[in-house]
This record gives sequence, C-alpha cells and structure tokens, in this order.
Amino acid sequence: MSTSSTLAEQVVAAIRTVVGTGPVALHEPSFAGNEWLYLKECLDSTFVSSVGKFVDRFELELAAFTGAKYAIAVVNGTAALHMALKLAGVKVGDEVLIPALTFVATANAVTYCGATPHFIDSEPRTLGVDAAKLRDYLASNTEQRGGQCVNRVTERVIRAIVPMHTFGHPADLNGLLAVAYDFNLVLVEDAAESLGSYYRGQHTGTFGQMGTLSFNGNKTITTGGGGAILTNNLELARRAKHLTTTAKLPHAWEYRHDEIGYNYRLPNLNAALGCAQLEQLPAMLSAKRELSHRYHAAFAPVSGVKLIGEPEQCQSNYWLQTLMLDVEHAVQRDPILKATNEAGFMTRPVWILMHELPPFKDCPTMDLTGAQSLSQRLVNIPSSSSLVPVVP
Ligand SMILES: *Cc1c(COP(=O)(O)O)cnc(C)c1O
Repeated sequence: MSTSSTLAEQVVAAIRTVVGTGPVALHEPSFAGNEWLYLKECLDSTFVSSVGKFVDRFELELAAFTGAKYAIAVVNGTAALHMALKLAGVKVGDEVLIPALTFVATANAVTYCGATPHFIDSEPRTLGVDAAKLRDYLASNTEQRGGQCVNRVTERVIRAIVPMHTFGHPADLNGLLAVAYDFNLVLVEDAAESLGSYYRGQHTGTFGQMGTLSFNGNKTITTGGGGAILTNNLELARRAKHLTTTAKLPHAWEYRHDEIGYNYRLPNLNAALGCAQLEQLPAMLSAKRELSHRYHAAFAPVSGVKLIGEPEQCQSNYWLQTLMLDVEHAVQRDPILKATNEAGFMTRPVWILMHELPPFKDCPTMDLTGAQSLSQRLVNIPSSSSLVPVVP
C-alpha cells in the first residue's frame, strides 16, 4: 500500500478488498431459511399474539443452543435486563455496577428498578469490564455490612454487577465471578450482543445468576424485536415467566393477578421468526468468523489499526467487526469515519460513554481511563453475515 495514502484511505481500501464496492450496511439481517414458512404458519393459525406454540419452541431451542436450563422469551433485550435485575433483588436506592462502555439499555434497565448505575472501567483485551481494576476499586471504596456490599461514599448498597460482552467478545468472566463472590454481588450478564459466543467452552449468558439476550433487528439473529432471560435456576425461571406475563395465575377463564406484573411476553409472531433464525444461526456464525479472517488479512499490512480478535480461550460470535486504532492514531478516528461513510461503507464509533450522557452525569464512577481511551479508538465496520455468501 502506498505510504503516501492517509490512514483513512488505507482503511477504505482494506474494507473494499473484503466487501467489494458500497453501499454496505453496518449490519443487516438475513432471512435465508424458513422465515416466510413459519410466519405464514403463524398467521394461518391466528395465534399471532401472546400465546402459541412458537414461543414455547423458541424458548426450548434457545435453552438447547445456549446450554441454559431455562430461557424465557420477552419483548426486547431491555425488558429482559429490567426483569433480570428485578429478580436479582435490585431495589429502589441500590447501586448496580455496569460498564461505562455499553449501550444505553444496560443503564436504563438499572434505573427502571429505581436503582443507580455505578460506572466501571473496561480493558482493551476483551473490551469488557476490567476485573482486576474493579477488585482494587471495591476493596478501597466499599465495605461489607451484614453480608451486603456498601459504597462508603454514597452509603448505598451495591447489589449487583452486570458485565456486557462487547460486540460479541466475552468479558473476563472468571475474574468477574470471583469479584462478585468476594464482594457479595449478584452477577447478571448482559449477553445481548453475544449469542453464539463462548467463554472456555460455555455459552455467555449462562455464568451469572441470569443472562439476557436481544433479538433486535441489528443483532446476530432477529425476531424483529425480542429478548430472552437465561437461567439455570428453576425458581427464577418460574418467577421470570410469571412477572413477564402480567403475573396472571393460570386459570381457564378467571383473570387473577397476584402482584404487579409486566406485559413483556414475546408475541408468537416474533417467536416464529426467531425459530427460523435460530436454524440459520450456525451458518451465520461461520460466515461472521470467515468475514473476520478476511478482514484480518486485509488489515494486516495497515499500520496504526488492528482488527479486534477473540480473547484467549474464548469463541466470539463476531457480531460487530471492530477496528482499534493505536493510541497515537486516535485522532484519525473521525477522518476514518468520514472517509468510510462517504465511500458507502457504513461504520460507526462506539457508544458515547454512559457517564457523559445527561441522565447519568451524576452517577458514581470509578476511574474510567480504560473506557475513555477505548471510546476514542474503536470503529465498527460492516459486519453482516451476508457479506460472506454461504456455499450451499
Ligand atoms: C441491543 C442491546 C441491548 C438490548 O436491546 P433491545 O433493543 O432492547 O433488544 C442491551 N444491551 C446491549 C449492550 C445491547 O447491545
């Protein structure tokens, strides 16, 4: 590659060698299987809404795929997080540790419980929570009172920790589970981005007390909108089902609700789409892995950026392919975003860090230099599984 071309030009050229000429979306869904068939079957049955066989089937198949004992399908990933946190015992006035580097849904779900997000730092190795740094922080800023972790500064109970598996790369789960254990925190995984990602051979979202998935249109598979709660605990699974279905007691005709529930159930129509998408998931995952190999080769000669690969002993789903700029090239991020989008390749920076958003600006934070550095240096590039056509 010519040394006279700018880094932005080299990035555009490298993307072009992999995906051809634009326009190319960042991530688009693909409906290559039984989607039409199952949707028609669902319409023909007239069971399009809150009851029907596709919901049950989707839940069973999700459990089988992830290895979780139970999966409870809900309307979206945010609702899944809300319910998981509520079931984890998060109460009004609590704090919940979440990465500053995440999608806003993680922080929103904490506030839906009347709790306050407490933002923690991320590491470049996994793009997830930095467990070692968190351990030091909690050791000097919290104390145990009656089996609860109390923030010495705010005097509030820190009830839970919600790691997130950024762009499908598993966070340091062993490190985080140890922190959760040592500081008496419930661990709930925001696995919205990591369906098909494994940490030491076990599916993400199945390590914590609960894990949550999203099937929004931009995720690895989609139900239009949708989400799920994963858990190995039968009592929590029952509670999750009950709470997300208006807390109605089963009865042939009577409407009796024994607590304030939520209308968070996934409609059968969406579940029909989900069943078809799950059949396609293994092929999509191999396509996304192959796309990563191709990008890796294309970016190898470009100095100043590197493609993020899966962390050690992990298998990532490569939901969004991600470039990381070297620290000294961070100033090139915006020129790269501009050049790629102008060339028809949809790219985007990582989310604005949560503590910089108006609704969360007064929330407690630890030192966030890791997340701050990452937020200036990450660029997502086109990642659809359809960019690598599967040979039938
Ligand atoms: C997509 C996503 C969610 C959930 O999103 P929904 O659109 O509500 O399904 C939650 N957390 C993260 C990190 C996400 O990327």
